[in-house]
Amino acid sequence: MDVRGEASSAGWARWGTAGNAVLPESATKLLAQVLELAPPPPVVPLPEVTVPGCELDTAVLDALRGVVGADHVLTAGTVRARHASGMSTPDLVRDRQGRVLRAPEAVVRPAGHSEVLAVLAVCSGAGVAVVPFGGGTSVVGGLTPAAGRHVAVDLGRLDRLVAVDPVSRTATLQAGLRAPEAARLLAEHGFTLGHVPQSYEYATIGGFAATRSSGQASAGYGRFDDMVTGLTVATPRGTVRVGRAPASAAGPDLRQLFLGSEGTLGVITDVTVRVRPLPAATHYEGWRYESFDDGLAAVRRLAQDGPRPTVLRLSDEVETMIGATGSGRSDGGCLLIAGYEGADVRSTVEAAARVLAAHGGVPLGEEAGQHWARHRFDAPYLRDALLDAGAFAETLETAAYWSRIPEVHQRVRHAVLDALPDGALVLGHVSHVYETGASLYFTVICSPGTDPIGRWRAAKAAASDAIAATGATISHHHGVGADHRAWYATEIGAVAVDLLRAVKRELDPAGILNPGILVP
Ligand SMILES: Cc1cc2nc3c(=O)[nH]c(=O)nc-3n(C[C@H](O)[C@H](O)[C@H](O)COP(=O)(O)OP(=O)(O)OC[C@H]3O[C@@H](n4cnc5c(N)ncnc54)[C@H](O)[C@@H]3O)c2cc1C
Repeated sequence: MDVRGEASSAGWARWGTAGNAVLPESATKLLAQVLELAPPPPVVPLPEVTVPGCELDTAVLDALRGVVGADHVLTAGTVRARHASGMSTPDLVRDRQGRVLRAPEAVVRPAGHSEVLAVLAVCSGAGVAVVPFGGGTSVVGGLTPAAGRHVAVDLGRLDRLVAVDPVSRTATLQAGLRAPEAARLLAEHGFTLGHVPQSYEYATIGGFAATRSSGQASAGYGRFDDMVTGLTVATPRGTVRVGRAPASAAGPDLRQLFLGSEGTLGVITDVTVRVRPLPAATHYEGWRYESFDDGLAAVRRLAQDGPRPTVLRLSDEVETMIGATGSGRSDGGCLLIAGYEGADVRSTVEAAARVLAAHGGVPLGEEAGQHWARHRFDAPYLRDALLDAGAFAETLETAAYWSRIPEVHQRVRHAVLDALPDGALVLGHVSHVYETGASLYFTVICSPGTDPIGRWRAAKAAASDAIAATGATISHHHGVGADHRAWYATEIGAVAVDLLRAVKRELDPAGILNPGILVP
């Protein structure tokens, strides 16, 4: 099963298996009070979706078949439709309507690094664009390149744990491994990666590196790019291997060139990561703060002075209120979730509790934390349930220094609300913390209207402008893709844009890798 539901039915245009999370009736009632819900048209089943025929020259197709085998060059319309986009809500809305934007001409499935290199050579020679396809969970248009013919290089067959070094605590994983399988393979050796994004069920190791992903346990385990010690990259110019020691003063750190490169500089074929022993103990708990500002002070203190939990998350008033819908809890305030993982967490839990209480926190106990942990992967399923109920839900995120966080939170909220004057719910939380700042994550729920994608584009542009105006970054973990490119260009400035373009020209002289993505 891939990220796109059941392969041959209306389930293809939703996250995973239908029915994994159900919208409580009380939530539907609440939404109907504040938003004009518009019952959606029926989903166009996958076999009825029209995809133009494959237009690749036979010679190119034959050359690709010669590299990966005929069984691994797929040209069926249904397979191509499933590789035409990622999983943003606009992607889902288009898919539900049977409107596939730009399907790849073919889906090519190489089995290893040398086959990826050979596929790149064929495509460079033929001037056919290449889109590396991991789990297909991009939410920033990272899998739909600029106009022109392209093939999707699906990395699903690169699915091995290559090596484990238990002494150094590192492991080399092939890029197409999905997170749950990577976790299972590492657990056989007594290790964990500790990378748990909300897209965990379907996203891949290569995708995490290519987008600089960040997981729910980043306060303890770090962001994915913190975990990477080395990478192997297939480029049209040949192989690049970066990272050979835990630290190095041998020139600039070239790992950073490929981390976050979103398939524009090469195809990552394996990633060496730092791993940690499987935790013997886990503990999750909830705390209540009177206001978001009070909670922010507590979270900042733990992030800066410790002890730092493994998971640290603070919901604002609106997110706390919506999260409590149907639970019988209606005492307002802001919910903080703290999670701890390790060999023995008791002393850390107690020390952190003293800090949390000293900042005005009221303990809500383990059940609040366990509830969060049980439902940590529900949101993608609820997004489908909201679309079914006639609402439109999408997310956006950013990061800023602590001194700016309250302003960014307010300005983004108001930018979205102003752009959706007929009403919207804007839920926010602090999702990842650092000594110097934090990430803010927003969920927007609004009426779809007659043009849901156009409405969202306007709201997202307003939010992105607000993010830029406050000096925050256009993305903390979703990446740039096609959607954030304009804001990214402004964020890094003209000289840095030229630098990025020059690197791309050197590694990808024919410009075949993900045109229109990331590089302005
Ligand atoms: C519901 C939902 C929740 C999400 N939650 C999180 C979250 O909590 N944290 C987070 O960080 N992100 C999250 N995301 C975003 C997304 O899951 C991440 O960006 C993830 O890292 C993408 O991995 P993937 O394997 O699906 O990559 P894909 O979506 O397949 O690809 C993403 C980009 O990377 C490129 N790429 C993929 N594999 C390679 C490779 N091997 N070499 C070179 N380029 C490659 C692609 O061309 C594309 O541009 C979420 C997405 C969804 C839909």
